[in-house]
Amino acid sequence: MWCLVRITRVRVVNGTAPTRLSHTKRTWQAPFMIAKHPKQRQKPPVVGIEEVVCVCGHKAKFEHFADKQDKYREQRRTKITSRPCAQCRIEAHKKAHPKKQKNRFSQGRLPHGATFHATYDAESKKWTGTLTIEGTVFSDQRGGVWKLMGELDKKYRQALVLIESST
Ligand SMILES: [Zn+2]
Repeated sequence: MWCLVRITRVRVVNGTAPTRLSHTKRTWQAPFMIAKHPKQRQKPPVVGIEEVVCVCGHKAKFEHFADKQDKYREQRRTKITSRPCAQCRIEAHKKAHPKKQKNRFSQGRLPHGATFHATYDAESKKWTGTLTIEGTVFSDQRGGVWKLMGELDKKYRQALVLIESST
């Protein structure tokens, strides 16, 4: 029975499950669109447009359908006016999910021939090491060997930035 219900719902929205609606394709799904009969799938004709104000203060267009086909008009209006406008929601989403910035300190491989050398001192409980790249030696001392290598890598990249900015 559950399967039947699911299939019906998925078919209704033209093969796209409601949860799959992307942010770019903003397709509003009114309750009547989740109807079982094919004739009821279509969005009814718009008989009027009302300008409403969203919580963000921006105006939005709110469509009216014929009274008979607009049983949930009040609910729809409440929904639209109780949340930010589409543009603001897109912006908020972009802010919450920023594209990963390229971090030059954690990206890219070291050049060919780069050599790490690390020695552990049990007394001081520290690793002393060097990173040699094309004759330039970077050195550091850390409690952990991975931390040491990370720091040496960072030193090399910071030196690269200095060279780039001075030329
Ligand atoms: Zn807005």
